[in-house]
Amino acid sequence: MTDLQLQQQYASLGISEAVFNYGESILASLKDRFDLIDRTAEFNQMKVLKAMQESKVREACLTGTTGYGYNDIGRDTLEEVYAKIFHTEDALVRPQITCGTHALALALMSNLRPGDELLSPVGKPYDTLEEVIGIRPSRGSLAEYGVTYAQVDLKPDGSFDYEGIRNAINSKTKLVTIQRSKGYATRPTLSVEQIGELIAFIKGIKPDVICMVDNCYGEFVETIEPSDLRADMVVGSLIKNPGGGLAPIGGYICGTKECVENAAYRLTSPGLGKEVGASLGILQSFYQGLFLSPTVTASALKGAIFAANIYEKLGFSVFPAANAPRYDIIQAVTFGKPEGVIAFCEGIQAAAPVDSFVTPEPWDMPGYDAPVIMAAGAFVSGSSIELSADGPMKPPYTVFFQGGLTWPHAKFGILKSLQALMDAGLITELS
Ligand SMILES: *Cc1c(COP(=O)(O)O)cnc(C)c1O
Repeated sequence: MTDLQLQQQYASLGISEAVFNYGESILASLKDRFDLIDRTAEFNQMKVLKAMQESKVREACLTGTTGYGYNDIGRDTLEEVYAKIFHTEDALVRPQITCGTHALALALMSNLRPGDELLSPVGKPYDTLEEVIGIRPSRGSLAEYGVTYAQVDLKPDGSFDYEGIRNAINSKTKLVTIQRSKGYATRPTLSVEQIGELIAFIKGIKPDVICMVDNCYGEFVETIEPSDLRADMVVGSLIKNPGGGLAPIGGYICGTKECVENAAYRLTSPGLGKEVGASLGILQSFYQGLFLSPTVTASALKGAIFAANIYEKLGFSVFPAANAPRYDIIQAVTFGKPEGVIAFCEGIQAAAPVDSFVTPEPWDMPGYDAPVIMAAGAFVSGSSIELSADGPMKPPYTVFFQGGLTWPHAKFGILKSLQALMDAGLITELS
């Protein structure tokens, strides 16, 4: 295949020669970085493979159980695989955990008791956790059960407020929640190393405090996970990185035997714990998705870096910056006007394998203070390891995007977004 043939293939999908060439010029400058990402994926692929081999994953693991799900060898082996990958004593990996928020709520609610205090030393947690904790009053929140909450914000430069954290830890402090990814906030994402330093500091003050990490969007971005640096629990969603795009539902909690057992007792029932929970026919997608996850995460990471470099060079503000190190797969681009956000999302939608023909429009989503536009043409509904973008229609008009099951698809989506911005006259010159 010649470069011309590739360019013509893109042209047949609506990418102009100018946009294609611009993408190629950006790409040429990213070769070394992409090589490093591939090395990380290679390392993590071996980590996953080794865990599967050591746990003797076999054909019988891929079929499921029904009813109570007693002796579900596939489910139990998968949890062993997760525990090996994250280097934890135990793991709970279930389709009955409906999403990331559910996994986090489960980890918190099962390990906290009335009178305990929860501390976030990294500022306000992810939006949906506000109701779980009771920061925004909600039925069944931790606050309703007499669990108090304390928060120490990051310092303006993004660093930990160690003094504030020391002062916030008291005799009631039982569990510390640390969010690895910035999510849709503007603070920097934490590296695993930074999280390790924070955990060491906290355990230096109070050794028996449970340190939990919200690991959403962070899995396999680095070669170590927070549980390698003494996190007692790492928690995440299977429709993000570790599901590899194949898991259609699910969440995980990896951690100490006691923490995981507490979570299992609350997910099912005291006394039953991990012993029940039929896997039905879902396990093959969990195993296969986990197997693909290191390279899928690498694809998403390349997409984020490619976009940051394209849009920063064109004069837009991007976060993280084009050459910043990456600790999660989310990329924010600020357009400063609504038309930019809309055109970007239209481009991402038009690049999708599913629903490419629909036009995304801003709508009043429950729980948000401004209309939100979303682009998602995913095989798994709401999956954000698949190429997707969303932005609230309010200043500074920032779009957040993430995912891409394959690098070519992530690249195409970003070229489509650039083409849409050009077609709308929002970018007139590529330089
Ligand atoms: C996505 C996410 C969650 C919540 O996950 P859902 O599956 O959307 O409920 C929690 N924390 C962070 C940092 C996330 O990115």
